[in-house]
Amino acid sequence: SSQSALNFGAGPAKLPREVLEEVQREFLSYQDSGMSLIEMSHRSKEYTKINNDSQSIIRELLNVPSNYKIIMMQGGGCGAFAAIAMNLLNRTGTADYAVTGTWSAKAAKEAAKYGEVNLVFPKANKPGSIPDQSTWKLNPNASYVYYCDNETVDGVEFPYIPETNGVPLVSDMSSSIMTKKLDISKFGVIFAGAQKNIGPSGVVVVIIREDLLGNPMKCCPSVFDFTHIAKENSVHNTPSTFSVYVMEKVLQWIKKNGGLEEMQNQALQKSSLLYNTMVQSQGFYSCPIDENCRSRMNVPFRVGFNGGDEKLEELFLVEAEKLKMYQLKGHRSVGGIRASLYNAVSLADVQLLVKFMNEFQKQHG
Ligand code: PMP
Repeated sequence: SSQSALNFGAGPAKLPREVLEEVQREFLSYQDSGMSLIEMSHRSKEYTKINNDSQSIIRELLNVPSNYKIIMMQGGGCGAFAAIAMNLLNRTGTADYAVTGTWSAKAAKEAAKYGEVNLVFPKANKPGSIPDQSTWKLNPNASYVYYCDNETVDGVEFPYIPETNGVPLVSDMSSSIMTKKLDISKFGVIFAGAQKNIGPSGVVVVIIREDLLGNPMKCCPSVFDFTHIAKENSVHNTPSTFSVYVMEKVLQWIKKNGGLEEMQNQALQKSSLLYNTMVQSQGFYSCPIDENCRSRMNVPFRVGFNGGDEKLEELFLVEAEKLKMYQLKGHRSVGGIRASLYNAVSLADVQLLVKFMNEFQKQHG
């Protein structure tokens, strides 16, 4: 078929085929209007419905309490790193960051432009673990405590929600949103770039407790001002209408396919299959991440005995591509292989990957 690749990309990543087909069907004439949705005003009744429905389905899927606002903005995850600081740091001027990998490190660096940043544990030389919470040095005066729920590059995922003793908790869920049930009331803010589990790039979802609004720094641009965006119902200026439109369809697909409970089941099955394959390989495949924080979404691994062999990994990628398995190369900063298993990646896709891994080991192990 025209779209038969097995896509294990980390983001932008595989989206449900049914969604892409629906977008294709309506692309030229949205709801028989004779126009494409992307040609319509963001203040049209069509887009207004998409805007409101997106917020409703997020609220429904994640069971978001009524004292939280759901907003959508642009600027990507990296834009949100700055926005979080500019919207929340004003209260005390200092924030706590748990740095467990690439993206939380970047977020901490960005926030340091706007105030004081305290690392709650020393930065590890090599990511791959999460220090026990009893060792964290939390500042009771922090404006917020920040962590990245799932480190997309490093493959480190929090198996729990950190306890902050009343300090607002901020979580980057760019690569784990809508993959597990969550108690939203434990969070001050959750944000996520859409381009992994819930849509195309171009939109960031922010879920924020209402009492945290209303105190942005003077320097905060309006397009990053959560209070302003919330007041304007996320159409303060032209949003990426196409991104939001596709995202809403992906969210409807998640609902139709069993919601977060089923996404969570699937994620566990898919990732366990891959990690078990490594265990059974007797060291030919290895994962450098501590067992208690291995990501269900991004599985980094090395190919070759004794911690990996770059030549063998190159061959692994070449052979995988012959079978149309794409985007398996590890992030340029860490090397190796990385298989991303977002919601749209099926168990059958992972079974094919595992079959290939076993055959590759037979030939080269
Ligand atoms: N946070 C996480 C967890 C990510 O995986 C990424 C991107 N892969 C980002 C933030 C940055 O997102 P963006 O590229 O949209 O700025």
